[in-house]
Amino acid sequence: MENEIDITKAARQLLEIDQFFAGDFTLRSPEELEIQSKSLDSSQELKEIADQVAKCCSCGLAETRTNPVPGEGNPNARIVFVGEAPGADEDAKGRPFVGRAGKLLTKIINAMGLERSDVFICNILKCRPPGNRDPKPGEIKPCIGFLHRQLEIISPEIIVALGAHAAKTLLETNKPIGQLRGRFHDYYTSENADPIKLMPTYHPAYLLRNYSVDNRRRVWDDMQKVLAELGMDIPAQSK
Ligand code: URA
Repeated sequence: MENEIDITKAARQLLEIDQFFAGDFTLRSPEELEIQSKSLDSSQELKEIADQVAKCCSCGLAETRTNPVPGEGNPNARIVFVGEAPGADEDAKGRPFVGRAGKLLTKIINAMGLERSDVFICNILKCRPPGNRDPKPGEIKPCIGFLHRQLEIISPEIIVALGAHAAKTLLETNKPIGQLRGRFHDYYTSENADPIKLMPTYHPAYLLRNYSVDNRRRVWDDMQKVLAELGMDIPAQSK
C-alpha cells in the first residue's frame, strides 16, 4: 500500500518537474492541480488494472489469447464505450476496437465531434473468445470485476453499451437490445453509489451486417441523446 502511494506521488512530481523545465512557470490554481492530480491517480489505477488483466488466468481464454485487451482512452472520460470482447485484430494488437467494427466506432465518435482519446473504450471480456464466439457466463463472471473497477475509477457521466452482450451484462437483464436501446438506464458501480446513465445502442459489427439507413439513424439518434445529456453541441452536418 505504502508503495502504491509512493508511485502516485513520484508520478505527480515527475509531471510537475516536466512542466517546469518545459518552460511552464505559471502557477496553477488549486482546482487545476486537483484535476491534474485526479487524472494521474486514475491513469495509475487503470494501469494497475491492465497489469492485473495481463497476469489473469481465471478462465481458459488466457491460454488462447495473443494479447490481453484491457481498454484504452482518457482516464477521466465523460463517456465510456463498452463492447463485447476483443476480436482477431484487437487480440493481435492488444487494443480495443481497431478492426472493421472499430473503424466504424471511430467514425461514430468523430461524428459526435470527439476523438477516441477523449473517451474510454473497453469490453466486457478482456481476452478474445476463439473464433469470435459469444462470451460464456463462466468467462464473464471472473472478468467483469475488471470492468466494474474501470468504471468506478473513471466515473464517467455516461456509459454507452455497444450491443446486446454489453447492455444485458451491465444491466443484468435478458431484454433484447431492440427494447433496451434509445433511452437511458441506471448503472450502479456499487450498492451505495450514485447511478451512472447508460445508453444501450447497436454494436458497430451489427450495423455493418445490417447496414440500413434506419439502423444508422437509430444509432445516431442514440448518440445525439448522449451529447444532449452532456450539454455538448451536436455537430451541424450530422443533425
Ligand atoms: N467487437 C467488440 O465488441 N470489441 C472489440 O474490441 C472489437 C470488436
